[in-house]
Amino acid sequence: RGNMKWSEMESENETLRKSPSSCKVAVIGAGAAGLVAARELIREGHDVILFEQTESVGGVWVYDPEIEDDDLLGIRKARKRVHSSMYASLRTNLPREIMGYTDFPFLPKEGRDGRRFPGHAEVAAYLEDFAEFYGILNYVQFCTVVEYVGVCKKGNKISWNVRTRRRDETEGGKEEVFDAVVVCNGHYSEPKLAEVPGISKWPGVQLHSHNYREPGSFTDKIVVVIGNAASGEDISREIARVAKEVHISGRTWSSNVDFSEPIGDHGNIWRHTMIECTCEDGTVKFKSGGSVSADIIMHCTGYFYYFPFLDTQGEVGVDDNCVGPLYQHVFPPSLAPSIGFVGLPWKVVPFQLCELQSRWIAMALSGKISLPSPQEMMNLVQDFYAKLEASGKTKRLAHNLATSQYEYDNWLSDQTGSAPVETWRIKIYEATSRNKRHNPETYRDVWPDEDLHYQAFALLEQIDL
Ligand code: FAD
Repeated sequence: RGNMKWSEMESENETLRKSPSSCKVAVIGAGAAGLVAARELIREGHDVILFEQTESVGGVWVYDPEIEDDDLLGIRKARKRVHSSMYASLRTNLPREIMGYTDFPFLPKEGRDGRRFPGHAEVAAYLEDFAEFYGILNYVQFCTVVEYVGVCKKGNKISWNVRTRRRDETEGGKEEVFDAVVVCNGHYSEPKLAEVPGISKWPGVQLHSHNYREPGSFTDKIVVVIGNAASGEDISREIARVAKEVHISGRTWSSNVDFSEPIGDHGNIWRHTMIECTCEDGTVKFKSGGSVSADIIMHCTGYFYYFPFLDTQGEVGVDDNCVGPLYQHVFPPSLAPSIGFVGLPWKVVPFQLCELQSRWIAMALSGKISLPSPQEMMNLVQDFYAKLEASGKTKRLAHNLATSQYEYDNWLSDQTGSAPVETWRIKIYEATSRNKRHNPETYRDVWPDEDLHYQAFALLEQIDL
């Protein structure tokens, strides 16, 4: 069925849904992960409801000019939540030809943002196209918040009680029982802050990048940005256009960084080691010895995994920002395959990875794929944690697949009988990473791998939907 045209498959789905291998599945979240999970589950003949708390598909890619109503840090649990962490000018950090799902090419369209590294609105439009093309919108319950997902065990049978509530209702809600749940609620909405000695008495303004939208309020300010990963680097360069000075404090810098030389188009960005402490007079001191008197500290320090609705009776938890125990980042051994998590890995090409994980879940649910026994899966998870520890890494890095993402993708491809990742995708990913490292200001518009780009487009244009 993976090779059938979607229109041909639609007519077969009704029959499949009546087969004993069809499950009633709740998918939580209609972002890039939830949409492709729904597509794979529908393709496999499952009976799907996709719950989405907002009024649109696309998740983080749906730009929201609103920010949260707490103190810009996003730490109060009861705050008014804003899901998206996109800022107005954000462009992708992956080229479109490797960013899209493998069988639904992310090609430029007439009248839209056709850039190789497009803005967020283009990605949101692509995800809408995807949802429309595969008829997924018919399966989505919009403006419906999943409030509770609880496991129910009766003998060997596992089911899930799911309570949802329409966003416009303050009371009540609806309870339904599902055979399976696929968790796709995203992991870029619950801000993680840097722990900085003295910060509670530091008098300046603090915010987390989750609540950053535009640079205007940084005009003429001295800003310290904590975190030198993708968001920290990009946002620093944007605010440096209007700020007086920007100081990036990073945990990991490459060995050839010269801390004494400013960088950036305006020569007003300095790099520093981590912060030693902040003082009541506004000073921020760095471990390397320097200090600045700053007006604003922006935490570009990432996010927590957060599943406020989930009750697995202690079978799955979050420990040091590692969701576990999970077999291959997807299945809790004792509850597999009745619950699966899609999209947890980071430092990856997410859409392709979500596509493969979703296929694995859909096929495991219909019994086409057998998983190892719960005990075997648990042993494999424990081995994985032991190897992580032996390599000097904490659990915090468990879902960081930077150096092993293609190995992981190919493992999933193998499980699901899908084609391995094409070599051109890996080459483009590596060329982009190199270009980004050497030319952080220009990598989105000047590409040494232009030939690969056009070859990829030629291949993608041949895909017959
Ligand atoms: P999300 O997009 O977050 O979707 C989760 C969905 O679940 C949302 O629609 C949300 O409303 C819904 N939801 C959550 N909780 C509930 C609930 N209780 N009930 C109902 N619905 C719920 N990736 C790239 O490939 N390229 C990039 O250039 C790139 N840049 C990025 C830049 C930033 C600033 C960020 C934050 C991320 C970036 N990413 C990028 C990663 C991006 O997160 C993934 O590409 C992908 O979109 C994640 O999809 P998701 O479905 O897992 O999560």
